[in-house]
Amino acid sequence: MVSSATPATVRVAFDSTAGRDVLEAARRAAAASDAPVDVRPVGSPGTVHLPLLAATRDGRTALRRSVDPNATAAFVSVLGDGEFPPDGTETTVEHEDDPADFPVGTGPLAAGVRRTLRGAGWADPTAVDVPAVDGDAALDRLSSLGLRGRGWGDARRDEPVVEGWRTARDADGDAVVVVNALDADPKADGDRLLVGSLAGRVLAGAALAARAVGADAVVVALPEEAPVSADRVRGAGDALADAGGPTVSIAVADATYMTGEPTALLESLEGTDRVEARRRPPGPEAWGLFERPTLVHTPRTLAAVERAVRSPEDADLDADAADPGTRLVTVVGPDRRTVELPTDASLSRALSADEPTAFACVGGQFGGLTRELDTPVSSPALRGSGLGTNGSIEAFDDGPGGSCPVVVAGRRTRVARAENCGRCVPCRTGSVRAHELLREVYGGSFDATRLRELARTMANTSLCGFGRDAARPLATALGEFETDLRAHADGRCPAGVCDL
Ligand code: SF4
Repeated sequence: MVSSATPATVRVAFDSTAGRDVLEAARRAAAASDAPVDVRPVGSPGTVHLPLLAATRDGRTALRRSVDPNATAAFVSVLGDGEFPPDGTETTVEHEDDPADFPVGTGPLAAGVRRTLRGAGWADPTAVDVPAVDGDAALDRLSSLGLRGRGWGDARRDEPVVEGWRTARDADGDAVVVVNALDADPKADGDRLLVGSLAGRVLAGAALAARAVGADAVVVALPEEAPVSADRVRGAGDALADAGGPTVSIAVADATYMTGEPTALLESLEGTDRVEARRRPPGPEAWGLFERPTLVHTPRTLAAVERAVRSPEDADLDADAADPGTRLVTVVGPDRRTVELPTDASLSRALSADEPTAFACVGGQFGGLTRELDTPVSSPALRGSGLGTNGSIEAFDDGPGGSCPVVVAGRRTRVARAENCGRCVPCRTGSVRAHELLREVYGGSFDATRLRELARTMANTSLCGFGRDAARPLATALGEFETDLRAHADGRCPAGVCDL
């Protein structure tokens, strides 16, 4: 530890109310210190190990994760005494003076790139700077690029966003932009991360969408248990309004997987007692919130929109790419984190060398099961491999303490059975029957033909994306793990996990 008279900056990264106590402890300790310590609240850089302290002085940043107020007060007091790195530092990263982004060093957050995530965990989450282009220019740019929507909950998921924008622009009525920040998939954190860490950038993307369709209102749908994100959206919304942008309001909705479906979200926002997906056509761009033309986009899509308009020179924003830009991928596990990969990078790039490799579920709650992690993270590549596109990898080991693909497929089919809205038969009845047939495998009965037909019917005839996606864990288990299913029916678990 060395002493320095250089002022220090402490960033307190948090996304929950417990983090506010840590921030206050840091501020009190800084106020009581002899040397100046600048305390700044920020969002997460991508990790869930919050609150996180990042103390910066003389081109170095000392990091400490999962702190409480007492540890924070001690950490900041030592800094105030001019010493660096403070006691309790877990990692110290050297970097240029005054970097624009969180110094990820060589840790797990260093996987991939930080373009959409640039500034997460480092910059003021409420700062807003909308690119100075008019709506037609923004629409033309996205049209020539072919930017696709991102994530469960986006009305243009995996499709070019501008098709919906043109429909909304040409439809009768006052258009509105809905930001679907419900965080509805428990396996993917990309939207929560962007709203909590870069709310201003998400709203800048929403403002560009509003310009393109002539909307003067943006509604941000948030779960009730996200008060810190709500504060940051409010702060960014006020800054946007001061700059002449659209009015931003927050609407609290139930954050279930079902209400994440774009039209079910609109039903929820309208106060409907029984939330169901709507029949289409017309889609929400023509007939949306209270019958208004409505764009429904996730924070992931809107942040990608903002970057595509602001930085057209970025190499990954290539109109010839099948899926221009980058994708956020949450690695689900003990060191849960969200990283950003170019769309031509393989899934395996998100993982550390010490993570499980037996098999993985890729693409969220209703992702696909696979042993193959060389697939690129672009939407066409993932879909072509039968995997999901909702930005997550949950990797498993087999053996004691690990998991078994039959168990994973069964659990996710059970979620489909429990949480579907019940509006259409293929999903409502299909998910019940699929779950029952998977349970019967443990009793010695495995009817592969019937299970395949069920998965195919759900995927092809369900009314909304819930049912189409819900078939995926089953379909991919039948595709790549049929021998495991047969072995279970014969009373044997090849992974050594199930008690048969
Ligand atoms: S697919 Fe499932 S969630 Fe969607 S409308 Fe049908 S029953 Fe409801």
